[in-house]
Amino acid sequence: MLRKICRGVCLIALVLGAPFMTSAATGQSPMRWLAHDMQRPRPPVVTPGKLALPALAPSDAVIVFDGTDLSNWRDAEGGQARWRVRDGYMESVPDSGYIFSAGKFGDVQLHVEWATPVPASGRGQGRGNSGIFLMGLFEVQVLDSFENETYTDGQAGAIYGQHPPLVNACLPPGEWQSYDIVFRRPHFHEDGSIARPARITVLHNGILVQDNVTIWGPTTWLQHRAYERQADKLPVSLQDHGNPVRYRNIWLRELPESAEPSGLAEQPATTVTLSPEQLQKFAGAYSTPLGDAFKVELKDKRLRVHLKTGQVIDLIPRSATEFAMRHTAGKIEFAVKDTGEVTGFTMHLGGEKYPITRLAAQP
Ligand code: MG
Repeated sequence: MLRKICRGVCLIALVLGAPFMTSAATGQSPMRWLAHDMQRPRPPVVTPGKLALPALAPSDAVIVFDGTDLSNWRDAEGGQARWRVRDGYMESVPDSGYIFSAGKFGDVQLHVEWATPVPASGRGQGRGNSGIFLMGLFEVQVLDSFENETYTDGQAGAIYGQHPPLVNACLPPGEWQSYDIVFRRPHFHEDGSIARPARITVLHNGILVQDNVTIWGPTTWLQHRAYERQADKLPVSLQDHGNPVRYRNIWLRELPESAEPSGLAEQPATTVTLSPEQLQKFAGAYSTPLGDAFKVELKDKRLRVHLKTGQVIDLIPRSATEFAMRHTAGKIEFAVKDTGEVTGFTMHLGGEKYPITRLAAQP
């Protein structure tokens, strides 16, 4: 136990610096269960489907471990990591300490493959224990949880001490298993207080075990630790918990802060006012060259296009013959002869132009 305490303290000190050592928060946990409560209900066991491992990295991935060497990994003092590498995997060496990626990362999609020792030895937290620490602070537990009882917030797929996995998807010891993790880093106010806690989604062997859960602070043993301001990017670390757990094929994709613009999409505004008489001349039956029917209707002073599939497109006039679609990035241009006869329209949508012909004579 003492060894574990020392490891945890050294890890935090390395990542956050000495000031954290004197200001470690011990505030009230926001969780509904005390940490490591054996009364917490066991997640159901689910047997994963056959996995295609190793999972090949996509073209934009950062390869963190390719099975050849530990050149991308450091020990807690910044020296060469002292885990063992052979046959395309690395294996934690008892008492060699946590190892840390040379690269620093914030928001990531992370893929990791791992296997616990075979034959299994020990029990509970002493059986195949390791862990993947996002930013060196937030542990996704690695444990041999195949027919191995322990507290649920400490079994495989748990956010250690906080969130048990939704199900137990653990494979038997010695079999390669995968984690696919989506991690959103914490954000802080100017004064250092937490603005947005970290969030995490985890798939274990292709099965959802953490569904975008909030992480309540750096994961710890025995106590709740509140957020303290930290860097935007920090190394990923792997835990030496005294068991020779294996890892291979570790890659990640750095994620943009947010893919969505803030605020709502601006709907097209009316730039001209057309009289009911001007709008009425567009009403009628239309068809594509392949015979798909459209009906243009004037109702409540608005022009609408009815598709045979049931959709209704609300049109916003932009000129005497051009209309924007209210909810879609596209437009409709009516074809009008010099005589005023409307002969059809062109629908501009998704970079394509669809010619549509009027069927009936104008009223
Ligand atoms: Mg662990």
